[in-house]
Amino acid sequence: MIRRTILLICFVLLSVVPALGALRIDLPEHAMNGRAFLVTVHTNAQAPVCLKWNNTEISVSCVKDSDGYRGVALLALPRDFSEKTLQVSAVEETAAGTNIVTRTIPVQHKKYREQHLNVDRKYVELSKKSLDRHYAERATVRSMMTSLAAERKWDADFLRPVPGGVSSEFGVQRFFNGKPRKAHSGIDLRGKKGTSIKACADGVVRIAASHFFSGESIYIDHGQGVVSMYFHMSKLLVREGETVKKGQVIGQVGSTGRVTGPHLHFGLNVSGVAVDPIPLFTAKK
Ligand SMILES: [Zn+2]
Repeated sequence: MIRRTILLICFVLLSVVPALGALRIDLPEHAMNGRAFLVTVHTNAQAPVCLKWNNTEISVSCVKDSDGYRGVALLALPRDFSEKTLQVSAVEETAAGTNIVTRTIPVQHKKYREQHLNVDRKYVELSKKSLDRHYAERATVRSMMTSLAAERKWDADFLRPVPGGVSSEFGVQRFFNGKPRKAHSGIDLRGKKGTSIKACADGVVRIAASHFFSGESIYIDHGQGVVSMYFHMSKLLVREGETVKKGQVIGQVGSTGRVTGPHLHFGLNVSGVAVDPIPLFTAKK
């Protein structure tokens, strides 16, 4: 009887305690060029897990949950990604050795459209002074992008920063006065001058400044490689270094910088890749 009870206890324990090397990743059924997607990591060790995909890697810290440790991360594919499949690996270093799990998912390819715009010549044919100013501002942004917070502050449900509809979608190949420019790296959201702009997630304001192209601009670091950008604002209501909460008003819609009218250009970068933020706007308000 005692032996049977011990055997039963052992059986129950084995079925509830995850086996060693239980590293596992949950991926969507497919990925898409120009989109971010959520990955969940499950493990039974507290060590951070390294996720690797498309020559990119990030470290994911996992927290205790009912069946071991769990962490989430956003991974992204560039707009011009052309491979048919994507390999994602999770690598974990534990006292017992290295665990690696690799999975491959199909990639669906979205074709992005073209858009022709006429803008003031001074924004297309730049003077040396304007160009120098732009290069200096670009260097500031690039340097900020290399010193992002490792710890995740965002939740998977991002908030739409203004209620207005999309006037120019993500990924559009733009032509200014007939000349090809880089593809639209964010979305343009409609809004009257003075409309409140809300932070899409918790984070820290890293840049709040006036830039030549993007006008009055805010960059928020949400941690673990996620950065949101708000351009052409009429008013900035937060300062560099300030911690902001999701839904906090950070500024107002305007038409500063290279624009044809008031709107909010909103951009989202995930591990250095610009993605379409629309599918991530799942927060209720
Ligand atoms: Zn835009």
